[in-house]
Amino acid sequence: MQQARDATVPRNPLSGSGADRPRVKAYDATTSAPLISVRNVGYTYSDGTRAIGDLSFDLAAGEMLTIVGPSGCGKSTLLRLISELRRPTQGTIARHLGGVGRHQCSMVFQEDTLLPWRTVEENVGLYYRFKGDSGTAPRGHIADLLAMVKLSQYAKFYPYQLSGGMKRRVAVLTAIAPLPDLLLLDEPFSALDEPTRIAIHSDLHMLIKRLNIAAVLVTHDLTEAISLSDRVFILSRPPAFIVEEVPIPFGTNRNMYDLRDDPAFLALYGRLWRKLKEQIA
Ligand code: ADP
Ligand code: MG
Repeated sequence: MQQARDATVPRNPLSGSGADRPRVKAYDATTSAPLISVRNVGYTYSDGTRAIGDLSFDLAAGEMLTIVGPSGCGKSTLLRLISELRRPTQGTIARHLGGVGRHQCSMVFQEDTLLPWRTVEENVGLYYRFKGDSGTAPRGHIADLLAMVKLSQYAKFYPYQLSGGMKRRVAVLTAIAPLPDLLLLDEPFSALDEPTRIAIHSDLHMLIKRLNIAAVLVTHDLTEAISLSDRVFILSRPPAFIVEEVPIPFGTNRNMYDLRDDPAFLALYGRLWRKLKEQIA
């Protein structure tokens, strides 16, 4: 009886080894096209507002790209285009998402999106509840994710019982639980105080690198952009184009706490700030 019920529960994609390990291979950019190819994309709203002028770039599997730019320059619009909530009015976006055992794309918004009547573990497992199949996450998957960000003891708590930083961690886990190839984040940490933000940066960076999730982050915070990214774009005033593209050379095992007084970090900050200042002055 127990065995028959267990057979309906998918295996945990974060555990197992060798032949026993389920396949959760992300799209492989070394052998194929990039995860996303944006080509000459523009967007004009139906009321005539031209948000995006002309954007072209590629995103590789597992890469973290951050977009910074003046308010109203089309950053949120770009995320909507990448997520296919809207179609470009000019140009094309090619997406190669949804590797074996992977979800295509998830999004983290600035606003609190947790369901207040569901516990932490129920919120994190929400995707599996609506996915169909057995409605159950792979055994141990949600518990493993909570353990990775030290939230295990809060699994049965409700959102109102959590601090702001914990709620944001849960929102990130909710988006990551389906193992998306691509994670989109629209100013997700702007309401947090600095120490909380650094701690959540560490967790987010660890999660997306361990799970091979590519991400596009929109933020106003240059420190956040440099801390988290492999590459940063500065966008122009609307209609947006890319005015500066800066590779961030700190690699996968960066320490968010030590980074901020590294001279290379301060030099990058200066370079990005000078370009951003031209667009917002
Ligand atoms: P950002 O996220 O960079 O602040 P948005 O992408 O939200 O900018 O908006 C870009 C421009 O498009 C702004 O001028 C904004 O007012 C306009 N805009 C956003 N959403 C709509 C909409 N639904 N209809 C018309 N104009 C919009
Ligand atoms: Mg926005």
